[in-house]
Amino acid sequence: MIAGKKENEMIIKKRNKTELEQFEALLSRLRPDHPKIRELESDFARRKKGYIGEKQVDYFLDELAAEMTILQDLNLSVDGKNMQIDNLLISRQAAYIVEVKNYSGTILFDTELQQFTRDDGSREKGFRHPIQQAELQKQRLQAWLQEMNLPPIPIYCFIAVSDPSTIIKVEGEREHIARVVSHAAYIPGKIKSQADAMTGNAPIQHQKLGATILRACKQARHLPVLRYGIQTQDILPGVHCPACRYLGMERIYGTWLCPKCNRKSKVAHKRALLDYFLLVNPTINNADCMQFLGISSATIANRLFKSMNLTYIKENRRWTLSKRSVVK
Ligand SMILES: [Zn+2]
Repeated sequence: MIAGKKENEMIIKKRNKTELEQFEALLSRLRPDHPKIRELESDFARRKKGYIGEKQVDYFLDELAAEMTILQDLNLSVDGKNMQIDNLLISRQAAYIVEVKNYSGTILFDTELQQFTRDDGSREKGFRHPIQQAELQKQRLQAWLQEMNLPPIPIYCFIAVSDPSTIIKVEGEREHIARVVSHAAYIPGKIKSQADAMTGNAPIQHQKLGATILRACKQARHLPVLRYGIQTQDILPGVHCPACRYLGMERIYGTWLCPKCNRKSKVAHKRALLDYFLLVNPTINNADCMQFLGISSATIANRLFKSMNLTYIKENRRWTLSKRSVVK
C-alpha cells in the first residue's frame, strides 16, 4: 500500500467477522436436538468460504477508496425485509453494487435460456441467476432511497468472481454478460469506465449519502438467530471447558472447574459472556449473568464485569463491551 493513502481512504464500513462469530457461538450452544442444526452447519461453512472470497475482492476494490465512499457488507431494511449487499461504492456520478460470487470450476451464462450453471468437474448444477439477483438488489436499494425520501441516483451492478481460476463462459450475448460479470481484478476498471462515461448529472454528495446509509445500517443490525427462528430458550447457558468443550464448568474458589476433565480456568467466563453478547443481548446485568454463567452471587458477576473492563451504562444499569474491554 502507498504511504499516505490511508488519510483519504473512504471505506466507512468495513467487513467484519461478527456474523461468523455468531454462527460459531450458536453452534456451540444450540441444544443438540434442534431441527436447524444441519442447516446452520452448512450455511456456516458456506459463509466462511464466502468471507474469504469477499476479502479477496476487497483487495482490488480498495484502489477506488481514494475517490469513492465504500461500504462493505451492508444490511438495510427495505419494506420490512432485510437486504444484504456485499459492497456498495458511491462516486460523484453513481452508486455501484458489487456482489461477490465463489464458484469453482466453470460457470456458464446462457443469455438465450436465461440460465446459469456451474460445472465443478463432477456435476453440473443450476443456480439462481446472479445477474437477476443483483438487479433485484438494485431495485431494492432504489426503493430504500425512496423510503428515506432521498433522490434517486443511477445504480449499476457488477458480479465479481472471487476465485481467479474460475472459468467464465457465455453462450449468447457475450458483451451483455461481460459488462456486468468478471474476475475481481477487472471490476475497478469496469467501474471507472462506467463513471467516466457519465457526465452531466448533478454530482452526488457521496460522503453524506454514505453516512446516511451507515446510520440506517446500524439500526438494521440483525442476528442469524432470528433468521433461523431460534428462540432464546434453545440457546444453552453455561461456561465451556477450554480443554474438553464440556458445557457446565463450575465456579469454585475464584476459578472455573470442569467436572468432566478436572481442568481449571481463570478466564473461561470470557468466552461465555462474548457468546451472550453475540447471541442474546449486546448488554447484560447481574441477574442475566448469574443465570447465564450459573453462578449464585451478584458480587461475583460484578467482579467479572470489572475484570473484563466492560462499560457500565447508568441509564439501564447494564454492562456492555467497548474497545477497552479485555476479551481474551
Ligand atoms: Zn473439561
